[in-house]
Amino acid sequence: MFKKTSAVADAVVRGLQDIVGPDKVLYQSADLLAYECDAYTLHKGMPRAVVFPGSTEDVAAIVKFLNRNRVPFIARGAGTGLSGGAIPLGGEVIISLVQMKKLLHLDLTNRYAVVQPGYINLQLTNAIADRGYYYAPDPSSQGNCTIGGNVAENAGGAHCLKYGVTTNHVLGLEVVLPNGEIVEIGGAGMPDAPGYDLIGLLTGSEGTLAIVTKIVVRILKVPQDKRTALAYFDSIEDASRAVSAIISCGIVPAALEMMDRIAIEGVEKAAFPVGHPKGIAALLLIEVDGIAEGIEDQIRDIAEVCRKCNVREVKIAQTEAERALWWANRKTGFAAMGTISPDYLVQDDVIPRSRLPEVLARIQQISEASGLRIANIFHAGDGNLHPLVLFDSRKPGESERAVQASMACLKACADAGGSITGEHGVGLEKKEAMRLIFTDEEIEAQMAVRRVFNPNDLLNPGKLFPTPGRCAETKQAEPEAVTGH
Ligand SMILES: Cc1cc2nc3c(=O)[nH]c(=O)nc-3n(C[C@H](O)[C@H](O)[C@H](O)COP(=O)(O)OP(=O)(O)OC[C@H]3O[C@@H](n4cnc5c(N)ncnc54)[C@H](O)[C@@H]3O)c2cc1C
Repeated sequence: MFKKTSAVADAVVRGLQDIVGPDKVLYQSADLLAYECDAYTLHKGMPRAVVFPGSTEDVAAIVKFLNRNRVPFIARGAGTGLSGGAIPLGGEVIISLVQMKKLLHLDLTNRYAVVQPGYINLQLTNAIADRGYYYAPDPSSQGNCTIGGNVAENAGGAHCLKYGVTTNHVLGLEVVLPNGEIVEIGGAGMPDAPGYDLIGLLTGSEGTLAIVTKIVVRILKVPQDKRTALAYFDSIEDASRAVSAIISCGIVPAALEMMDRIAIEGVEKAAFPVGHPKGIAALLLIEVDGIAEGIEDQIRDIAEVCRKCNVREVKIAQTEAERALWWANRKTGFAAMGTISPDYLVQDDVIPRSRLPEVLARIQQISEASGLRIANIFHAGDGNLHPLVLFDSRKPGESERAVQASMACLKACADAGGSITGEHGVGLEKKEAMRLIFTDEEIEAQMAVRRVFNPNDLLNPGKLFPTPGRCAETKQAEPEAVTGH
């Protein structure tokens, strides 16, 4: 499968090759380069090797072997993570789940599917759409990211406002613990299994407690009807007020997304231009869905709320093609920043929805102080902001200023009573920022949970929690001479 290499494999690589076969282990530095980082590209580290298991048993054997030899390891899906969760700190073995990519079982009567962790999110909806079903969590990266990675990050998406994030759709998990033990938790017949909510604990644990090898997910019936609207505003404040006003009038839209002027400039230059009016300060992309009866009333009520908030224009999609274009324009928004800036840094933070106007004003001040443009494309209904700091890494000092500006946005959200991540996770990027919202004692309590699952700190070390110092140290076990599996 992979190109043969001539360099001598070390004992760890040979041990891995014994488990999965020589063609499923990468260890040449040229091959490893692609695994230096995920979609958070400001930090890079070289893994020791990358191994591609084909089954849960392979994963268990690999983990037992690495555990016995005290070699740290990281699970990896598609590498679209935006907080550096899959980035090696140096010397870890990456366990790539991309070859475990099957839809194992589909039960439309009981509305669940069983998938391997490398199965791509959007493939599930594509596989069942013609029968009138879909998988609800829809990160903008859904065409590339894996459901295993979604579970690890508790991924969200535009329609999570009404339908909930990944954790609300996971019914069961099979995982390999950091000692190599295979464990099954929950399942299709156990929507509320007795005892501790281990699915809840593992979902969003960012690959630090276990490696997910099988997922039972809930699937939903496609709503009978939907309406999609674009509302254009001349001021960010009016658009922000409209977000709170829509929710407080009792309607929960399926999606309520916002883009500001800079973001609109980018998406209109990219692959899916919509022809948004010139000069607007912000737009809202709003979708309502459900039973056909009443749907027109809902979208009419929303348009009325927008009018009370000084909207310039409200447009309703007239065809499915038009609606799809609007969504493509929104969902490719991050990548579209490449049309107006050589580099961008995505932040992900949450605030109480009612504080949108003041926090967006604070982000504007941060932009002016840093001399860098900041675009905003985000899940406004959830108060889940994504300030995108635009910069040019070729200019001396700009990368550092971008990181500072991005962190200042994060702090502004924490100060407004929010959180440091809504859906992208903490990973490597924001582990020190955990101190903005947790006390040392709260962090230590979470690290104690991690030690129960991951006592040797071999699974994804150095992620999620601040570097020990002010907190109790997580000791990593000493390596021993390599022994076989
Ligand atoms: C353009 C773009 C748009 C995005 N939009 C969204 C969005 O709307 N919503 C959202 O939530 N996210 C979004 N993301 C972030 C990202 O796509 C998600 O976090 C996704 O869940 C990561 O999946 P992955 O397969 O790429 O995981 P990876 O990046 O490979 O890994 C992410 C983390 O999960 C761990 N992991 C991966 N697989 C497993 C496994 N099987 N078992 C245990 N741990 C595992 C890794 O160790 C790492 O810590 C976006 C990213 C990009 C690049």
